[in-house]
Amino acid sequence: MNRNFEYINGGSIPVGTIYCIGRNYAEHAKELGNEVPTEPVVFIKPPNSYVPTGSKVARPDYSELMHHEVEVVFVIGKDGTNISENNAIDYITGVGVGIDFTLRDVQNKIKEKGLPWSMAKSFIGAAPVSPILDIDEIENVDDIDFEITKNGTVTQSGNTKDMINSIRPLIAHISKVFGLRKGDCIFTGTPKGVGPVDSGDKLVATLANKAQLEIEIE
Ligand code: ZN
Repeated sequence: MNRNFEYINGGSIPVGTIYCIGRNYAEHAKELGNEVPTEPVVFIKPPNSYVPTGSKVARPDYSELMHHEVEVVFVIGKDGTNISENNAIDYITGVGVGIDFTLRDVQNKIKEKGLPWSMAKSFIGAAPVSPILDIDEIENVDDIDFEITKNGTVTQSGNTKDMINSIRPLIAHISKVFGLRKGDCIFTGTPKGVGPVDSGDKLVATLANKAQLEIEIE
């Protein structure tokens, strides 16, 4: 695994906290038998979960079932708390596409027991992110196409217009509860079509035909 991952795009912004939103696309919540929430479902991955494009990711040995979840990722460019929805876009420096790798068998067990999701979601390599586009390259944050292929076949495709909570209210909510810092990343949830990955699989995620993430499963 490429461990040279501490800085976004190899530049000067260290990867901070990785906030992830669960069940933010109705069709995906339904495919896993979950209720469609009204309030954002937030969980956190540590910076060590981040790996850049070209990395190999291994499934941890305590799981038999790792799923891909393709997601649009926004990167925060300045610190803020209690950010209003109106000002939220000013706090975004860039956008990319990521994979929220999830150990579905582990997650199902800990959901049954009511335990935190960290063992299923927050392991090393669980949050690959493409090179980050400058936010100015995106016309409308609420209309971004993205997709993922597994071994050349499209398995998930989506558009940010289908998010239950869009990026402005997500930034307002996260900044109010946790505070946001430069370098923090927000994974905004996955559309339907999540599925298993196995050793040797090649995943390619793309965002608006502008950013690309390539990951191989070890
Ligand atoms: Zn996810």
